[in-house]
Amino acid sequence: MGRIVGIDLGTTNSLCAVFEDGSPRLLPNALGEVLTPSVVGVLEDGSVVVGKVAQELGVRAPERVAASFKRWMGTDRELVLAGRGFSPQELSSLVLRALKRDAETALGEEVTEAVITVPAYFNEHQRAATRMAGELAGFRVRRILNEPTAAALAYGLLEGGGNRSLLVFDLGGGTFDVTVMEVFEGTFEIRATAGESQLGGEDFTALVVAWVLEQAGLHYERIEVAEPLRLARLRLLAESAKRRLGVEPEIEIALPRADGTLDESCPRHRLLASELPRRAERLLERLRLPLARALRDARLAASGIDEVLLAGGATRMPWVQELVREHFGREPRCTLDPDLVVARGAAIQAALIASDAAVEDLVLTDVCPFTLGVEVMKQFGSVQRAGYYLPVIHRNTTIPVAKEQFVATVEPNQRQVTVHVYQGESRRVEENLLLGTLEVRGIPPGPSGQSIAIRFSYDINGLLEVEARIERTGQKFSALFTQNVKNLSKDELARAAAKLQRLKFFPREDERNQHLLRFAERVVGQVGTFQRTALDEAIDAYETALHDTDRAHFEAARSHLLQVLSHLDHPFPGATRDS
Ligand code: ADP
Ligand code: MG
Repeated sequence: MGRIVGIDLGTTNSLCAVFEDGSPRLLPNALGEVLTPSVVGVLEDGSVVVGKVAQELGVRAPERVAASFKRWMGTDRELVLAGRGFSPQELSSLVLRALKRDAETALGEEVTEAVITVPAYFNEHQRAATRMAGELAGFRVRRILNEPTAAALAYGLLEGGGNRSLLVFDLGGGTFDVTVMEVFEGTFEIRATAGESQLGGEDFTALVVAWVLEQAGLHYERIEVAEPLRLARLRLLAESAKRRLGVEPEIEIALPRADGTLDESCPRHRLLASELPRRAERLLERLRLPLARALRDARLAASGIDEVLLAGGATRMPWVQELVREHFGREPRCTLDPDLVVARGAAIQAALIASDAAVEDLVLTDVCPFTLGVEVMKQFGSVQRAGYYLPVIHRNTTIPVAKEQFVATVEPNQRQVTVHVYQGESRRVEENLLLGTLEVRGIPPGPSGQSIAIRFSYDINGLLEVEARIERTGQKFSALFTQNVKNLSKDELARAAAKLQRLKFFPREDERNQHLLRFAERVVGQVGTFQRTALDEAIDAYETALHDTDRAHFEAARSHLLQVLSHLDHPFPGATRDS
């Protein structure tokens, strides 16, 4: 059996780690970096690229690129890339496939098994879609692990420390999770989770974009439709502006032209860091609600938390840290890089599965992050009304767990009952998520009120088994609920896998070269006419050499291009390292 890798499949960035010599090690991608942007692109020749190259492609050709698709995991939404439709799980599987290849290159061996993390707040469909993405990428998915659990595992193993109550505050690019857990004698018990699946660092970037457009007197809605290239470029600038605002009192940001090009003559806007908290007030406010809810569910006051751990790149923002500090009256802990900590924890979980001796003292328990139940009728005087929700397993119950509830027939001689299984917190089922149904047949004739026991078993992998038992006869019916991502049968799964097989994958080892090409193409639009000619020629020569089998010729063209870029004050990032 090969090694099991731990994967943080993020909205913005994905990472892969292995457990080695008693600690997790992050694996570099084809560009030598540990963060791979979760972005997929289709090149002009139809081949697929993942990561920075795809991100770079997106600035000039957004219609060829998809990002942030984790937000749509488990839904029917289709994203169109270069005229072809992809589901969110297919796109995720392409990211996972790239990680798998890079891991295999880094380790020098085949990698077939993985632990993949998901936000604690992901529902059944989203978890099942993630598992499927892993399988489509060729992994045997050993465990779907909650991201905050992974973060706590990393802190627990790497930083030691006795028994305590932890709160993990994880703000990534597009999701927000709060988890309260207890560490006791090496055992992790999750007490409560809460969060928002549509809130993250990207919202702060969007805020900077809106801020610049407002200063320029432009309307977002119009730009979005009429000038997508300008918006794509501005987003890239806003991303780095947001980071600088965290450490500098004021910054300057340029507004690209309508066609997305950028040079010195473009207007520049000054943004004050002190103004950001006011503009971000609504976003910051939204961070407080899940905090309060998780504490309430765990029956703890803020003062009952011994330690707050930060995870997710967006927690590097000082305003977010300030909010945490204010809420808990203490310094949050972020000694481990917040954007790497989840992947590290996933690798520890992988080691737990592989029974690595270094982690044998750790035991892990988890909770069901949402309530699971069935639809029932309610009696109001002489009227019966359908559509009510009877919880069977309550939110934040420690799993694995099995619970039983009883329902009854509502009419005399009723022979059959359809059990509707839901997930959610609302009193009425229509506001909850329908997971599926289970038919109970052969109820013996008799008066209404025949009892049927409904038993839910929920395991550590998020598999829900529902069993219905007719009390009078003992006859049982059961169904398994997690693997059926909406409308996806075995056949459809096979078709999806075949479709992905047909896609040509751009060779990962050549991505670095592609990245240089895309980078240089972008710079062309930013330099003066005179310089442009020299750069154009260097790019042409390089692109020709890319298809050349003569290695020496290629190296010469490459170093010439790097030189030209560096003379134009646009050095290629990482160029000194690899040239
Ligand atoms: P995800 O888990 O969603 O993939 P990450 O944990 O990688 O996300 O965090 C990505 C987010 O963190 C992005 O929105 C990025 O802008 C933000 N981020 C990373 N570093 C910084 C920083 N220094 N300052 C502000 N935001 C940052
Ligand atoms: Mg994350």
